[in-house]
Amino acid sequence: MSLYKVTIIGSGNWGSVVAKLAAVNTLKYPSLFDYKVYLYVYEEIVEGQKLSEIINTTHVNVKYLKGHILPDNIVAIPDLFKACVGSDILVFVLPIQFIPNVCYQLRYRVKKTAIAMTMIKGFNVEDGRLSLISNTIRRELNVPCAALMGANIAEGVIREEFCEATIGCNDLQHSEIFKKLFETKYFRIRCVPDEETVEMCGALKNVIALAAGLVDGSRAGSQNTKATIIRLGFVEMIEFCKRYFPNTRLETFFESCAIADLIASSYGGRNRKVAEYFANEPEKTLAELEEEMLQGQKLQGPITAANIYSILERESEVEKFPIFRAVHLTMIKKIPVSEFMLCVQNHPQHS
Ligand code: NAD
Ligand code: 13P
Repeated sequence: MSLYKVTIIGSGNWGSVVAKLAAVNTLKYPSLFDYKVYLYVYEEIVEGQKLSEIINTTHVNVKYLKGHILPDNIVAIPDLFKACVGSDILVFVLPIQFIPNVCYQLRYRVKKTAIAMTMIKGFNVEDGRLSLISNTIRRELNVPCAALMGANIAEGVIREEFCEATIGCNDLQHSEIFKKLFETKYFRIRCVPDEETVEMCGALKNVIALAAGLVDGSRAGSQNTKATIIRLGFVEMIEFCKRYFPNTRLETFFESCAIADLIASSYGGRNRKVAEYFANEPEKTLAELEEEMLQGQKLQGPITAANIYSILERESEVEKFPIFRAVHLTMIKKIPVSEFMLCVQNHPQHS
């Protein structure tokens, strides 16, 4: 049997960590994987040098994951097509903003037997309807696509701190291959045959993490308040999934992709952090704060909040999801942060 060639598409904060997990396991399973892991790097000049060359020579992603040495079997490639040509496993770890263009460039150009995975936390709206990133990948590349989501803040995983992740994959054989590619002693994986819910939870929790950040920043309440917002947010996540994916399995919400990621992100994620500052800096736009605080890393929560809002509005269901609604309207400055808590105090849970 020929060896699986692996490409990671995206070399940001999480993409770099994922490349490390894969690079450790391609060495661990030499009869299964080609030992080299190809990493597509969107080329940037950092201190006068190409980022892809810096990664290949120093093995450090100095822009997105400073201070951590990556395995030297990771090969950074700035040309998307060259990075993906002939690959058997394509792992998408880009901010959602860039996925349409990347998929478009790869159309008809990937191996017919390839399998894909998305680690992107978000979804699109197409013709007014919700469209999963995995669907875009399947449609554009004509390959199957699973999802891996979890309580996986990149800084903790690169330091090899114990955590879990969830693979949503309806094909058992593919699940096993992906698990071998990413699981380590400190990064434990459970596979569930519920692709859509796993992917949706990764997207939706970012909106609740923004809500948690708004509570932190506006000092609108104590830890009791924050815990309440997280619980109500969790309920909205479940209701939203049930509404748009009737086959959603309740047990998936107890996996790392849902409850655990919601907690991790509401305490430690970038969405929470930027929302906290946003609550305190009324004269700054979200885009300004994102640029200042994240220096090239991208928020996914505000896009998802806007997408949720447009879907709910189209179906006159906005009022059933007060936290999703209030987060979106606050982030686009349609309501002041001081009104955020008022908006969620009449929750359907309390009627
Ligand atoms: P990031 O936020 O660090 O984003 C920067 C990435 O965008 C870099 O790879 C950069 O090269 C790329 N980029 C910039 N301009 C581009 C362009 N025009 N075209 C293509 N690429 C461009 O990225 P990340 O943290 O790796 O996040 C990727 C996805 O993984 C997101 O959906 C995120 O929610 C998810 N995720 C992140 C974490 C985390 O802790 N960082 C954990 C789990 C999942
Ligand atoms: P942020 O993008 O908010 O940092 O969330 C990271 C994440 O998804 C951790 O699982």
